[in-house]
Amino acid sequence: MDFSGKRVIVTGAGKGIGRTLCERLRERGAKIVGLTRSGDDVASLRDDLGCAAIQIDLADAGATRAAARDALPADLLVNCAATTELQSFLDTTVEDFDRLIAVNTRAPMIVAQEFARDLIARGHAGAIVNVSSMASIAAVPDHTAYCASKGGLDALTRVMALELGPKGIRVNSVNPTITLTPMAVKAWSDPDKAGAMLHRIPVGRFAEPEEVAEVILFLLSDEAAMVNGVTMPVDGGFNIA
Ligand code: NDP
Repeated sequence: MDFSGKRVIVTGAGKGIGRTLCERLRERGAKIVGLTRSGDDVASLRDDLGCAAIQIDLADAGATRAAARDALPADLLVNCAATTELQSFLDTTVEDFDRLIAVNTRAPMIVAQEFARDLIARGHAGAIVNVSSMASIAAVPDHTAYCASKGGLDALTRVMALELGPKGIRVNSVNPTITLTPMAVKAWSDPDKAGAMLHRIPVGRFAEPEEVAEVILFLLSDEAAMVNGVTMPVDGGFNIA
């Protein structure tokens, strides 16, 4: 998959899957504009990876729209940023629920609106990948707002694919299982907790960030020219077990 000459917007580019994706895109010739929150990550994206980078809190709708416009023009978009809050259903607060929907569901819509409007105005084709989660379908304890935000993101992906497909913009999502970013390694280092989860994954392990990034690359690429509107599990078979 060759991305030479392609300009790609990646939200959540600072850490984890988004950062790994930027490294892989760069190796394949893409020019990247990262949208992310921490100043240190913005500096590192610029200095270490040679990306353009914009500092943004995606919970702020107005600032997100402005940042998305600043990132244009682009050929491809990956909505990767997300956040979570561990709360039981009964303890989930309205403030945290709203914040997770804002970052995980509303921001991908806003960034994609600006990206798609510009592509259509320029008469160009493109592709979008939304990074969702197996939690869009599976109930995960203490993840009320996160599950709702990812279920909403899958619905958004389908409507975007329906409306933007005729305009030459494909829209898909990847839905990973637990992916061993540094934070996930910490969170899943308890063998009891990890064992119960691993038992439900037929391949018997969690995903590596590279394995999610490669599927995103495929969905962005021309090799996936006929793939539109899918929510693609990257879960070792969790969804069929
Ligand atoms: P990380 O926490 O490692 O990275 C998330 C990135 O998003 C960070 O750069 C973070 O910036 C950025 N981000 C978060 N909130 C905001 C915000 N309000 N404004 C701007 N940037 C923000 O996450 P992962 O790599 O693990 O996750 C990437 C995607 O993959 C997410 O959509 C997640 O839901 C999904 N996913 C992850 C799984 C996993 O097990 N890791 C499993 C399934 C899905 P900062 O740190 O500066 O806040």
